[in-house]
Amino acid sequence: MADCLFCRIVAGEIPATIVYQNDQVVAFRDITPQAPTHVLVVPRRHIASLSDLAPGDDALVGEMVRAAAGIAKEAGHADRGYRTVFNTNADAGQTVFHIHLHLLGGRKMGWPPG
Ligand code: AMP
Ligand code: ZN
Repeated sequence: MADCLFCRIVAGEIPATIVYQNDQVVAFRDITPQAPTHVLVVPRRHIASLSDLAPGDDALVGEMVRAAAGIAKEAGHADRGYRTVFNTNADAGQTVFHIHLHLLGGRKMGWPPG
């Protein structure tokens, strides 16, 4: 989508610090990090939110989740732990409507989230 921020990052039209990519997903550093490691994993294909996933997207979601786990391991967070979050729609605070998995690590997390 031409007017989607994350589609434009995927296309290389807007700069981002890419930490991992393959043929299906791109992972880049969040511009306002909420933890020492804060990476967003997005599919190359535009999907607005978790609510818009179809059964045919199951493998893509698996790629996103496994990419996050791999980045967390590479960053040294696997043993102590890390958090992965999909925010969906207004009450959860979703601001960018191109589905993204937040990976946060490198500090102790509180629960429940705010
Ligand atoms: P959410 O609030 O779950 O929709 O998350 C959107 C995230 O995108 C926020 O954590 C923002 O800090 C992040 N963000 C917004 N613009 C950019 C950008 N240009 N590059 C990297 N991250 C961004
Ligand atoms: Zn998009």
